[in-house]
Amino acid sequence: MKSFRKELWFKTQSRRQLINITPEINKCLSESVITEGICLINAMHITASVFINDDESGLHNDFEKWLEKLAPEKPYSQYQHNRFEDNADAHLKRTVMGREVVVAVTEGKLDFGPWEQIFYGEFDGMRRKRVLVKIIGE
Ligand code: ZN
Repeated sequence: MKSFRKELWFKTQSRRQLINITPEINKCLSESVITEGICLINAMHITASVFINDDESGLHNDFEKWLEKLAPEKPYSQYQHNRFEDNADAHLKRTVMGREVVVAVTEGKLDFGPWEQIFYGEFDGMRRKRVLVKIIGE
């Protein structure tokens, strides 16, 4: 069995941002030379997510509005966690959007369903943060 590991780094320009990382994951898959197996992609921070969905700007705005309804960023004082920080909302948003995804690798390609794309969801950005890519197989 072959194994491949890589960290991808991100620093967003705003506190919250969704980034389509499918091209980077495809590059990792090429580098790995694995054609049959499993690809795990996870955020390495507890205020960021990796998830799969549609690359459609209206939907991305809907995610932003929906998450702000569920866990509004402000007022910061509404959260107990914010006694020492200001990112309680980001922890909650991350939990809703998920930590990781696993994608099957078949015949050298990510074995997606229709319109599936992989996203990095940043909820407390403007600093360097990582995503782990681990691919195993043969
Ligand atoms: Zn925190």
